Amino acid sequence: MREIAANLKDLRGRIDRAAAQAGRSDQPELIVVTKTFPAEDVLRLAQLGVYEVGENKDQEASAKAQQTAELLGRSTTADGSSTTGKLRAPRWHFVGQLQSNKVRSVLGYAGVIHSVDRPSLLKALIKAAADRQAQPLDCLIQVDLREDIPADSRGGAAPDQVPTLAARLAEADGLRLAGLMAVAPLEEPAEPAFQRLACLSEQLRAEHPEATWISAGMSGDLEAAVAAGATHLRIGRDVLGHRGQPR
Ligand SMILES: *Cc1c(COP(=O)(O)O)cnc(C)c1O
Repeated sequence: MREIAANLKDLRGRIDRAAAQAGRSDQPELIVVTKTFPAEDVLRLAQLGVYEVGENKDQEASAKAQQTAELLGRSTTADGSSTTGKLRAPRWHFVGQLQSNKVRSVLGYAGVIHSVDRPSLLKALIKAAADRQAQPLDCLIQVDLREDIPADSRGGAAPDQVPTLAARLAEADGLRLAGLMAVAPLEEPAEPAFQRLACLSEQLRAEHPEATWISAGMSGDLEAAVAAGATHLRIGRDVLGHRGQPR
C-alpha cells in the first residue's frame, strides 16, 4: 500500500511537470493498468482514490472484476482495514486487443473499450450493445501509428479507416464514440507519432465534436503523450511495479 501510494505521488508529480512544460492548464486523467496484478491491488488503488483501472485480457479482467466486487462487498480489505464500505466499484477500461467472441463477456464489466480497431469487431459490439439495458459504452478507436502498417496488422486501424469506423460508431445504439487511442510504435520516437495522433484527433473532432478523448501514454512515454495533448494516460509499471510473467 505504501509503495503504491509513493509511486502514485511520484507519477502525479511527473504528470504535473509534463503538463506545465506543455503549457496545459487541464490535467490528463490517469488510468492505472492492473494487468498481472491481483484484485487486492485494485482495492488498494480505490483506497488511494484511483477508480479508473485498465486491463488487456478478457479472461484475467473478468475474473478480477468479479473478485474486486466480492472484496468490495466484504467489510475488510486485504490489509485488514475496514474502509471498503466507503469504496465504490472502479470503472474497468479494456485496453487490449479484443476478439469478437469475447465482446459479450467484456460488456459484462467494462465501462470503456479503448481498442475498437476493425469493422468486424465493431459489428459484434453493436450487436451485443443493442441487447443490453445500460448506459452507452464509451468506445475509442485504436489507431496504428506506424508509418508502414503490415497487411496483417492487429492492434490498430490504419488512419484512413478512422472516419468510416467513427461514423458507424457514432450512430450505433448503446455505444458512444469517445475518441482515439494509440500505443507508440516501437520503431520510432514517441513524440512525432503522438503528434500524428493529435492531428487525427483534430480531424475526428471536426466531424464528431464529442469525441474528445486521446488515450495515449504509458510509463515510458507519458511526457510525449502529455505534450501531444493526451487526455487519458494508461500507466501500469510506474504505479504497481514490474510485472512478472504475463498471465
Ligand atoms: C500494459 C499496457 C499499458 C501500461 O503499460 P506500462 O508500461 O506498464 O505503463 C498501457 N496500455 C496498454 C494497451 C497496455 O497493454
